[in-house]
Amino acid sequence: MLSVVKTRPEPGIEILDCPEPTITHDGHVLLEVAACGVCGSDLHFYEWAPHMRGEITLPRILGHEVAGTVVEVGRAVTQFKPGDRVVTETWGGCGRCYYCRLGRFNQCMYQTRIGQKAEGGMARYVIVPDISLYNIPADMPLDEAAVIEPVGVALHSLERVDLKPGDSVAVIGPGPIGILAAMLADRAGAHRVIVLGLAADEARLDLVRRMGYDVVITDREDPVEAVRNRTEGRGVELALDVSGGYGTLSLALDLVRLGGQIGVVGMSPEAPFNPSIAAIKEVTIHGSFRRQPSTWFRAIKLVSSRKLDVRPLITHRVPVAKAREVFEILLHRKGIKAIITPD
Ligand SMILES: [Zn+2]
Ligand SMILES: [Zn+2]
Repeated sequence: MLSVVKTRPEPGIEILDCPEPTITHDGHVLLEVAACGVCGSDLHFYEWAPHMRGEITLPRILGHEVAGTVVEVGRAVTQFKPGDRVVTETWGGCGRCYYCRLGRFNQCMYQTRIGQKAEGGMARYVIVPDISLYNIPADMPLDEAAVIEPVGVALHSLERVDLKPGDSVAVIGPGPIGILAAMLADRAGAHRVIVLGLAADEARLDLVRRMGYDVVITDREDPVEAVRNRTEGRGVELALDVSGGYGTLSLALDLVRLGGQIGVVGMSPEAPFNPSIAAIKEVTIHGSFRRQPSTWFRAIKLVSSRKLDVRPLITHRVPVAKAREVFEILLHRKGIKAIITPD
């Protein structure tokens, strides 16, 4: 099967003919992939970004934003059967370790993420454990379903914070997760949603404007002043740091009003941060990592009902053979969410 493979510890990917996987564990399920989204982390692996090198073993088929159909199940699988339409967690919690028993499945001590330490979904078939799977409605388009995984990341950040209807929200970073977070904050009743990005993000910010949200271009205007001008001089109740850029937590601290909250979602590199400002402003900082099973159930309802319509975010649909072109487009911030389909 034609697959998108990261073969060597250097920039690039290869399109290779790989053997089809077979079930070797009673609790595993073989899926036929219908759609696999390209994540920011896949782009980091493509570029061979230093801070992500430890997160993958090579060679590896990339891809973890998978929607597809069950083809075959292991002997111990009782909840899924061939023909079921599903989306998959990148590798579910084991359900038995300390953190799983606390209900923190996203922090399971024994996870092997697909597309990183196990073969991923940018190919016709992928193997996942049954605990990772979630059924989706029969009439739900599978390319939209592939966006549920990143929706879960954005949604979990809002599950972590305390957003009230009428609050103002700043979202730093107009990538797919940032745009989804802005849409979710809007659905949750935010009075004003302000998305901060760079001039280079113009194509993405254009969509943000068309969705009706405010845009602040941080390399063209003073972002703190621009946000205060939109919030009666005080700053926002909530800032979501979704960019993964340098120094964004410090920016978030300046954007929130006294007593405000920050949600940290992006995987930013280490940067200076002034704790006294957090103390004086009495700011609460919430980390947010991937999502929980409960997040999946919510995200599936939101996306399948189109209460959260993800279609405007899907800018590219390409077969595996064209993956390299679409990775380049995304790296240049031209598209938003690209979907890879098996050849
Ligand atoms: Zn992802
Ligand atoms: Zn566990």
